[in-house]
Formats: sequence, structure tokens, C-alpha cells
Amino acid sequence: MTSYKELGLEPIINACGTVTRLGGAPMPVAVLEAFHAAAQEWVPLEQLQAVASRKIAETTGAEAGLVTAGSAAALTLGTAAILTGYDLGRMERLPQTDVFPNEIIIAREQRSGYDHAIRAAGARLVEVGFNEITSNAGVRRTELWEFEAAINSQTAGIAYVLGPGSCPALNDVVAMAHRHNLPVIVDAAGELPPRDNLKRIPATGADLVAFSGGKAIRGPQSTGILCGRRELVSSAALQMLDMDDHLELWNPPAEFIDQSQLAGIPRHGIGRGLKVSKEEIVALLTALQLFAAGAYDEDLPRLRGYLESIQSGLQIPQATCRIVEPSSPDRWPILEIAVDEKSLGRTAFEVCKTLRTGSPTVFVGHGKLSEGILVVNPLCLNEERAAQLTMRLVEELGKTVGTTRVSSE
Ligand SMILES: *Cc1c(COP(=O)(O)O)cnc(C)c1O
Repeated sequence: MTSYKELGLEPIINACGTVTRLGGAPMPVAVLEAFHAAAQEWVPLEQLQAVASRKIAETTGAEAGLVTAGSAAALTLGTAAILTGYDLGRMERLPQTDVFPNEIIIAREQRSGYDHAIRAAGARLVEVGFNEITSNAGVRRTELWEFEAAINSQTAGIAYVLGPGSCPALNDVVAMAHRHNLPVIVDAAGELPPRDNLKRIPATGADLVAFSGGKAIRGPQSTGILCGRRELVSSAALQMLDMDDHLELWNPPAEFIDQSQLAGIPRHGIGRGLKVSKEEIVALLTALQLFAAGAYDEDLPRLRGYLESIQSGLQIPQATCRIVEPSSPDRWPILEIAVDEKSLGRTAFEVCKTLRTGSPTVFVGHGKLSEGILVVNPLCLNEERAAQLTMRLVEELGKTVGTTRVSSE
């Protein structure tokens, strides 16, 4: 805590949860201790990643896994693997892909800023379907035949962003892609919990799946997981790891990188800038084990308690609180605060802005501001911060502009 103060920064109250902009998830003590211990000694990174691969495989049911620099890095590396396989010449060329198949098909409605990570490997995104629901100009979502109709000799694979209600079903996309011998890479960055998803998503047969390590898994914010088919994970590892060795000396674990498939030893690949440290790998594996074993379930009553205390402290006419129950039993609830913008004389957007500039500084969830709703995610709160948050909310939502005192200013 004091370290931020020494840097001249005042820590904020994060009521947004695991968002990257504010520093991600709280790391459990066991994860921090693992990080600390891993910093005291040295191991070859490819051996450590081979162990990580086995552990990720056990936890996800996938053939192999890799600890990456976040889910976004997993998408870049996974795409690189799809584009190159074990072809060293292609690895060397990335992100230049004009002389081999480089098209990745994606539903237009699944496009987001995160797919920059896919394009960064050199893939060209080919959009299918429309966004008719959003444009209020139709009733249909993307359909399977639209993916199939876009397949041609330049197609390298399919990208799929998993979310509640993503469409068409991932199972169907995978089955269709496999009929055409095409791999599917899935962005499942934020789809945990439920922790079952660790196994359920790879079980669809998806060739590669990306998870964030710094969201609900509560590993270092800069980590992620790429898991899936052994040869693709292996190709991804080759394009991330430090490759400065002699072929005759280089001896990666055979089940992780099968040297017999390689014409030589690649040089530093497209993922060299996406490296992960030994400490981050060990910390992420520790967090993954805790998450998968359900160790975080014991926090759920505490997290709910913060929301209930905010709700009971915010009994004012300008705010209506509602605890939104989670979609799975191993998820925590969130609190929605509907702002009566008319009686308050200010919009939820304005309240969100003043919360960010007041003291202590508070960041609340800003995904529903257009509906007049502030969202509180309790994951990064503690008792003290929950109390301070309640105080700031009462201050901001208790000031009505309708009174002569304020409006006469
Ligand atoms: C958070 C997120 C990412 C990025 O994950 P990082 O682990 O921060 O790199 C990518 N895609 C989606 C859908 C996300 O929610």
C-alpha cells in the first residue's frame, strides 16, 4: 500500500472487479508466496512451461497448455500457431502472411477490440453474418451456413468469442470446422467462473482456448492460458520462448516440443515480446490450482456481505439497490444501483465521473450508465473499502439539485 504512496499515487477503491485498467484481481497469499519462492531459483523456461502444460492439461482436459502473457497474448500466439504449424519459414515471416492461407473467419457480431490480438499475428479477419439485432434491422443472429460459405483455399481457421448466448453454438461451429479440417480458436478470457468451464469449453473439441489468468483465477494480472491440441500449443510455445540456443544443445521436453517435427530450431518468434517470467508461471499455476479446487468459494459470503452493507447504507430515495444473483453458484453477486436521475438532477454518468475524482477515488462499473445504473462488483473490496464506498455513494447520491440551495448557485 505505502509503496504506491511513495510513488505519489493514491490507491483507489476498485468496485469494478478484475478489470485490467485498474490492476486486475486480488492475488491470494499463497499465489504471492509462490511468486516470491520462484524468484529465488532458476529453471529452464521450456522445462517449466512443459510442467505447466501437464498441469493445465490435467485441469482443463485439453492435450496441452501454455502460460501466456494474458488472454490477449494467448490469442496472438494461438493464431500464430494456426497460421504456421511447425513450418519454420512461416514462423520467421509472421506477421507477413501473404504467401500462405491467412484468413480467420469470425462472426461480425463477435468482433471487438480484443481481436486486434488475432490480427497482430498476421491473420486477416473475414467477417460473416450481420449485427441485425444491434442495428434494429432484423431478428436473426449469425448462422452456421454463413461460416461455411466463407471457407475457401485461403482459410486458416475460425475464431469464436464465447459469451452468454454466443451464437451459433460453439459445438456446432467446431463440428463444421472439423469437417473442413479447420481449427477453431476460442476467446474464453472472461468465461470463468463457473469453474466447470475450464473443462467444458475444451471438451467442445475447440482446438485452442484462451483464458485470462488475472481475472477470476486470481493469478498475476499479466498471465493467461492457452490450451488445446498438442501440436498447436507446441507451435505457440516455439514462437514465444527464447530460442537463442544451438540445435545440438537444445533439448526441450519431448512431450512439450517434439523436435522430430522440426526442420531446425526457429529464431525468436512473433511472441518473443509476449514473454512470461518463471515467477508469473509458478504463481499462475498456484492460482489455477486454487481456483479449480473451489478454494475461492469460501470468499462468496464475505463478498455478498459487502453488497448487503452497501445496500443497507444507501437507503435514500435517489437510489434503488438490487443485488443481482450470479449465473452460477461459484460466482459472486453484483449490486446494481439505479439512480433516479430526475430527482437527483444528475445523470448516473455524471455521478460515475464525480466518484472518480472525489476522495477517496472510487471506480464503479460503467457498463450500464446509459440505463442510469451504477454497478458494484465486490471482488476487490474489503470491509474498510466497502464502508468508504458506501460513504461516497451516500455523499454523491444524497446531494439533490432540486433544492433551492444548490439550484440557486
Ligand atoms: C479480458 C478479455 C480479454 C483480454 O484478456 P487479458 O488476460 O487481459 O489479456 C480478451 N477477450 C475478452 C473477451 C476479455 O474479456
